[in-house]
Amino acid sequence: MSEFDYDLFVIGGGSGGVRAARVAAATGAKVALAESSRMGGTCVIRGCVPKKLMVFASSYREGFSDARAYGWDVQDGEFHWDKFQGQLHKELDRLEGVYRKLLDSSGVEIFDARATLADAHTVDVGGETKTAKHILVATGGRPVRPDLPNAHLGIVSDDIFHLDALPKSLLIVGGGYIACEFACIMAGLGVEVTQFYRGAQILRGFDDEARGLIAEMMREQGIDLHTGTNIVDMRPADGDARSESDAEMGADVQQMEALQTDVDGDVEGGPLWVKSTNGREGVFDQVLFATGRAPNTDDMGLEEVGVQIGRRGEIVVDEYSQTAVPSIYAIGDVTNRVNLTPVAIREGMAFVETVFKGNPTPVDHELIPSAIFTQPEYGSVGLTEEEARDQEEIEVYCTSFRPMQTAFAGKPGRVLMKLVVSKESRKVLGCHIVAPNAGEMIQLAGIAVKMGATKEDFDRTVAVHPTMSEEIVTMRDPIRAG
Ligand code: NDP
Repeated sequence: MSEFDYDLFVIGGGSGGVRAARVAAATGAKVALAESSRMGGTCVIRGCVPKKLMVFASSYREGFSDARAYGWDVQDGEFHWDKFQGQLHKELDRLEGVYRKLLDSSGVEIFDARATLADAHTVDVGGETKTAKHILVATGGRPVRPDLPNAHLGIVSDDIFHLDALPKSLLIVGGGYIACEFACIMAGLGVEVTQFYRGAQILRGFDDEARGLIAEMMREQGIDLHTGTNIVDMRPADGDARSESDAEMGADVQQMEALQTDVDGDVEGGPLWVKSTNGREGVFDQVLFATGRAPNTDDMGLEEVGVQIGRRGEIVVDEYSQTAVPSIYAIGDVTNRVNLTPVAIREGMAFVETVFKGNPTPVDHELIPSAIFTQPEYGSVGLTEEEARDQEEIEVYCTSFRPMQTAFAGKPGRVLMKLVVSKESRKVLGCHIVAPNAGEMIQLAGIAVKMGATKEDFDRTVAVHPTMSEEIVTMRDPIRAG
């Protein structure tokens, strides 16, 4: 008999935690998993999945006018948020059920409760104490608001799926993935969108040329995008009592935030007066803070048992996802490495290989393809032109054009296909695609780049005609070198 209640206790039922629990249980291990909210985590319940469904919903708007250009006699339809929202939550309930069923059928014991650490092998879960040979922390992250008076009056991405009604006007603060994706979604659904980004260009860290085109396309879509601009003050437009003075007088702002982001609750709101760094004032029905996410490590007893926490609140792990406490591992957003669902899943599988299959497996974080679901989408893998240029001599192959489908409909939209190539090895160091369905395209291009394909390998591949992505194998001359 084992000296522990379980071989593995997983804290967190998101994509990474659920996968690790299931795969570990399949090796014959006795596994339990605790989740304090809904099974499925950020990706399934309040992230990638509902966001992508909203992308689909919002993309129909353009479809009406495109269809007319192609000879269809259709009128612009009206979007009914309540209808969509009902369907959306039905789908999320279904997916949550699938996750539970998968855990059940794998023999994983589920605790619908918050778990905290008591020592290197013990967790407190819903008032009970359980011991485990290994503990895996996969508690993910949460959106954070900026340090600003009355920031609690703004919403965060979690709240969007619970809005009673779509706002007529929305200010989005931030220029990252979430800010840009929701700017496009909301504009597509007919909301007047204003976006403030504090830096010179949105999507910091991505390829400059691609960022420039996305910003241009977003403005083309009607998004009032202000770079070099931030919010400095906000309060209820009608002078509601729940304002600055509440925060100054020590009202429990965290409690208000918790209320605002309650995943099952309604989202309160009212018009908000906002002042920006350039002195301009405006009133918006809602303000969305898309100003980054923080790892969920608070009040879990992590540091008390010896787990090291980094500067941004993340759990510090080695290449095998092991913390400073040998029996405790951590995967996914809580470790703030590469905060993407498929990466968390990989980290979970590598953890099981290492700990339960005796096959030490470090996680490969190199050349991860990813997509930003703006409209058009941005898919990228590998280095940006700027990163590659810092590293070695490169050639840049790039083309930007109006795609056949929308050009026919008289739309100004452009797409971009770009390869960053090493002059010496000829390897494609980076591939960047801004186009409808770029997420689908980059998944496939990512295989070639990950395999170390050279520019000549791309050139040897015959084009699929007529497609947008054929340009990726037909660009003959570099537009820049050096
Ligand atoms: P990001 O870190 O990508 O973006 C945060 C944005 O907020 C940045 O533009 C940042 O500006 C800005 N910001 C931060 N603090 C402040 C502040 N105090 N005032 C004003 N602006 C501020 O975070 P997201 O929340 O958008 O996304 C989090 C992560 O989730 C992503 O990194 C990604 O890993 C993942 N994700 C992936 C998606 C996908 O794969 N499609 C979709 C959504 C999320 P600055 O650039 O100046 O720092």
